This record gives sequence, structure tokens and C-alpha cells, in this order.
Amino acid sequence: ITATILAYCKTMGALENFCDFLRIRSVSHEGPQGAYIEAIIFLRSTYEKRLRCSSVTQFEVSDGRPVLIFSIEGKSPNLKSVVLNCHTDVVPAVDEKWSYPPFDAHIDEKGDIYGRGTQDMKSVGIQYLEALCGLRDRGVDFERTIHILFVPDEEIGGIQGMGLLVRTKEWRELNAGVVLDEGLASPTETYTVFYGERAPIWLRLRARGPTGHASRFIANSANERLFRVINKIYEFRKEQEKEVGMLAECGCSHVVAKKLGDVTTVNCTMLKSGVSTDDGKTYCLNVIPSEAEAGFDMRVATTIPLDEFKIMLESWAAEENVEVDISYMPEKHAITPMSDSWWKVFEHACEKAGINIEPEVFPAATDSRYIRVLDIPAFGFSPMNNTPILLHDHNERIHKDVFLSGIDIYRTIIPSLANHVK
Ligand SMILES: [Zn+2]
Repeated sequence: ITATILAYCKTMGALENFCDFLRIRSVSHEGPQGAYIEAIIFLRSTYEKRLRCSSVTQFEVSDGRPVLIFSIEGKSPNLKSVVLNCHTDVVPAVDEKWSYPPFDAHIDEKGDIYGRGTQDMKSVGIQYLEALCGLRDRGVDFERTIHILFVPDEEIGGIQGMGLLVRTKEWRELNAGVVLDEGLASPTETYTVFYGERAPIWLRLRARGPTGHASRFIANSANERLFRVINKIYEFRKEQEKEVGMLAECGCSHVVAKKLGDVTTVNCTMLKSGVSTDDGKTYCLNVIPSEAEAGFDMRVATTIPLDEFKIMLESWAAEENVEVDISYMPEKHAITPMSDSWWKVFEHACEKAGINIEPEVFPAATDSRYIRVLDIPAFGFSPMNNTPILLHDHNERIHKDVFLSGIDIYRTIIPSLANHVK
């Protein structure tokens, strides 16, 4: 009975800590005004002692954006470390659209915990910490050093967060061998693990052409040229869209349906043209504009080499004499190849934890991309199965049993990684 009561108390403690973390309103843009530091003070005061850390590092990676690192030194500190990453920020929430206030951590009668960050990704951060506290309480040590990282700004691109952190000496001193980071909830029994992300590209197309009175057949106007390039891009998009859900041969020799992460998406997110003399309140609709511009968000599948994709776009634009201005494009795809030896270790750890996993490419972007381009393997894994994907959505929630079982999963996975000696 004592053991049961003890287990119950621990469960309650983990849930309470999770709810306290959820109540800190660490929305990315507001974070530097105080919520980021509040989150870190909470984490330190709750976990620093219980973890029996060998060191705790806290510093501002940029103005008002603190990073926190709990370190548990391994028995073989020269081995590369295991890094568990969690971003402290969350996306904003529209209060009126929620059944319960998004920063109250309300638990309903079914056991669902409502709150911004319940899936993305405060749950994961607390699960790492609770799993490790449980192990440390029993006096468990590890071969490899473990670092638990809390970083700001992921939800707004991580440029002033992880993007800067990976260039610091503090990062190099972590001597990271493998990184666990966020994944997504899975609506089925199987858990998803992300080993890569599509490459985001942001670009503008600029067309110029003759002007004249709109009552005539003016050939090759700026708008006409721009349309022709846009049409080519949207033809390509149609082909890609058709492939979603179609069967495809994947690298691991079994046949799976293509998902969003396996194809390239393109969306025109800006259009600009027209002749106006009052800053766009009205337009001279009888004048052919001499300039036209379009902006795009593209997410390139990891199977398409980025330089080939760029050449394809540039050739479409060149045919119409349209300029391409790429404002963001990574140098290479951020993927952890399935042949990486840590992949086997991770797979084996999941097997030991008794869970089935499905490898996937993440459809959007996470901080893992900054790590993978350094050729450090990173796995995106949030232990939430039988859970609807509600990140960034209204009524983001997680069932308390799913949250608690995630702690158990990490209690197996983390030591499996940290005790793996090549
Ligand atoms: Zn996230």
C-alpha cells in the first residue's frame, strides 16, 4: 500500500509541475519581457535539486532570451553526450475560441489537460525532467553525460534562440552525440519519430514590362510574365498534391503512403502590382502596370536536391525574363540518415519501452534543423499516441494518462541512449 501511495504522490507531483509550467504565459514575442525568465526560475526551483545536477548553466543567448542547461555528468564524461531539447516558448492563443482559458491548465472530467503548450512542447520538457528525477531518486547514474536544454524563440524560427546557441562555446562544450527534440502527437496507437524536415524556401519573383493604355493588346506585360511563371509553379504544385496519399517505395523497402512531409508544397503568399496615386486606396485600372511581384513559401521534400530545385525555379523565371530573389534557403537538407548508428539505438530503446514507432519527415520546421546541419543526429519525438494533433490549434490538450505514460517511456529511452557505448 505504501508503494502505491508513493507512486500516486509522484504522479500528482508530475501533473502539478506540468500544470504550473503551462500557467507561465511564455508566448514567443512576449517572452523577453519576463515570461522566459519566469519559466527558467520555475524549472530551476522545481528540478535543480531533485536532478542532482553536476552543473546548471544559464545565460542569455540574445537580449531577454535565456537558455537553461541542466547537466548530469556521466561515468565516462569523454563520450559524446545525450542532449534532450525543449523550447520554452509557445504560440499565442485566442482566448474566445477555447473551452477553458489557454493558460489555466484546466483538467476536465475526462482527464484532458487543456492549455497552450500541452502538446507543443511543455509536456515533453516536464516528461524528460520527471523521468530523470525518478531515476536519480533511485540513485541511477549513466555512462554518458546528459544535458537537458530549455531554449527560447523556437516558434518564431529560432533565429535568436537555437540558431545562435549552436554557434556558442557553451554549445560546443556540450559535446552532443545525439539529440532528442519535439515531434508530433499521433492519432493512432503507433508513435511517430521525425528524422528530418523539408527545407523552407522564401522567395520573391519580380517582373517588369511595357506600360500603356489598358484598352490595347499590350504583349508581355509585367503581370502577364509573372502569371506565366506562377502558372508553371502551380502546375508543379498540382503534381505534388496528387502524390499525397499515393503509394510510394520508400528507402526502408516497404510500401507506405506519401505524407505531407514527403512532398513539396508551394504557396503564393504575396502579390503586388497596379498603378496607384494614393498608396493603394484606389488603382488606375486602365493603366498597364510596369512592375509586378509575387512572394512564395516553399517546403522542399528531402528527396529533391536543393540546388536542382533552385535551378528549376530559375529556369522557369528566366524563360519569362522574371527576376528571382531568394531571401531564405538553407544550404542543405536537414536530415538524420536512417543509416546513422544512433537510429538503431533509438529504435531498440523504443522496442524496450514497448512502443511501436513510425519514421517520418516533419512537415514544418523545428529547432532540430540547426542541429542536423551540423551532422549531429536529432530525433523529433513527442511521446503522445492516441491523441489528436492540436499543436498551435484552439483547445490544445493532452490526456493526463498519455502525459504520465510519456514519463515511463522516457524512463526507458533516456538510459538506453545514455548507457549506449560504441
Ligand atoms: Zn514546438
